[in-house]
Amino acid sequence: MKIGLLAVDGHNFPNLALMKLSSWHKAQGDTVKWAQEFEHYDVLYKSKVFTFSTERTFFVSADQIVKGGTGYRDYDTTLSVEVEHSCPDYSLYPAYRAAYGFLTRGCPNRCPWCVVPRKEGVIRPHAELSEFIADRKHAILMDNNVLASDFGLLQIEEIVRRGIRVDFNQGLDARIIAQNPDIARLLSRVKWMNFIRMAYDHAANEEPVMRAIENLKAAGVKPYRMFFYVLIKDVEDALRRIEQLRSVGAQPFAQPYRDFELNTRSTKEQRRLARWCNHKAIFNSVKFEDYSG
Ligand code: SF4
Repeated sequence: MKIGLLAVDGHNFPNLALMKLSSWHKAQGDTVKWAQEFEHYDVLYKSKVFTFSTERTFFVSADQIVKGGTGYRDYDTTLSVEVEHSCPDYSLYPAYRAAYGFLTRGCPNRCPWCVVPRKEGVIRPHAELSEFIADRKHAILMDNNVLASDFGLLQIEEIVRRGIRVDFNQGLDARIIAQNPDIARLLSRVKWMNFIRMAYDHAANEEPVMRAIENLKAAGVKPYRMFFYVLIKDVEDALRRIEQLRSVGAQPFAQPYRDFELNTRSTKEQRRLARWCNHKAIFNSVKFEDYSG
């Protein structure tokens, strides 16, 4: 069979579903290629991860078109078990050197702005590192709350043992690090690609966030390695959290709140705060009240 793949969001970030489909089809003896305009395919897979990316007109024909991904607000279409547990076809993205995968799926929490509980359900083991690491020394892990899973913690031990450099790009739960200094010590033994990412999304989390920072510091993690997503709803409240993180030497990264279900846009002031905070040269030299944006 001739299989075409279409990553609707573009090629700026590897599309894990398409990499797994490619592997699985190649193992069946099929020919798999990025879809080309005016070509015909037996099956065309279209995957869209982001709701905000626009789908351009693409002239292609296929006997069967399979569409999926959060970008289509499609939370029901899933890969078959065999495809889901195929090692991704990393040859689709030769410029990327990391492995990609999930150790766990789901989350035990139900933050109102988050699609994960609805899309993925409760936390559970998903795959061992060995399923998708191949011969790679770096891994981008997209788990939503790996620290809430005993299986996830065992896999982090395995990451340490193998010396794999990792980035949990969806962030780690600061509340769990705050409650458990052993987890902070485990994380201090991990080789990080850049940062330990966490979230400081609202003022109610001040106490656990500050305690997580203290636990990580006590375990030997330098504060500049601690990266915090800061959700901006109320600008003044977000600015206070940003300045608090700065005062302890951690790295804030501001994200204006958008309701993807209602398709609401962020406000100008929220975007101004995010631009100021995330442009580190400006952040380190200009106060927000003096920033004209
Ligand atoms: S803890 Fe994170 S993944 Fe879990 S529901 Fe809240 S925002 Fe979503």
